[in-house]
Amino acid sequence: MKIKSAVFTVSAPDLASCPPALRPEFAFIGRSNVGKSSLINLLAERRQLAMVSNTPGKTKLINFFLINDTWSLVDLPGYGYANVTKATEEGFQRAIMDYLTERPTLAGVFVLIDSRLPPQAIDLEFLDWLALHCPAPSALVFTKADKQSPTATLASIGQFLERMARSRHGPQQHFTTSSKSKQGRKELLDHMAAVLAKAPKTSSARVSLRGNPA
Ligand code: GDP
Repeated sequence: MKIKSAVFTVSAPDLASCPPALRPEFAFIGRSNVGKSSLINLLAERRQLAMVSNTPGKTKLINFFLINDTWSLVDLPGYGYANVTKATEEGFQRAIMDYLTERPTLAGVFVLIDSRLPPQAIDLEFLDWLALHCPAPSALVFTKADKQSPTATLASIGQFLERMARSRHGPQQHFTTSSKSKQGRKELLDHMAAVLAKAPKTSSARVSLRGNPA
């Protein structure tokens, strides 16, 4: 898929403030510092598209980017912040949960995992929650693959997938990426293109990707 245009649309503090559900959306989520902004910029081939997500005050918002005027890339707040108050944390976790469980146009969720780390409880817990509550398909994205040898990356991914296999629910697919070497960009975009090809062709009415028109 060629990215012809990529435009920041809006930052929403909660589900009610999200733009009208008109186009398919792919959401990206992971622990803060996992490389989410870098991956979004890589996919869109825009150096500073996701900069907005990293600016103070916007890190806890749901950020929408319209791609090729046909679908949206959605940057969800990073989980696992250490320096937020309990109330703030609950607020933005509620927003993430509402979005992931109720957004009718959600076509896919990419959960970013740092390929250098052993399986982290917070990621595994989030994936369990996602499998139980989110109706959209999810996939894993192992980031920062350039930071170690391919052998080490494969070993780390193998360890994570083994932990996932022990749980009843697991994502269907995984990708390996590097924002530095551009590894995985084509594979991710091809995957999204394949999903979009199956999505309803409408932009003028509220669409549902789950055969459940709103
Ligand atoms: P976010 O908090 O998840 O949005 O993470 P960022 O995209 O801001 O990345 C956090 C840090 O990791 C930054 O210093 C990035 O330059 C670095 N980083 C992100 N992705 C990669 C990658 O694929 N390779 C390398 N070498 N560094 C990366």
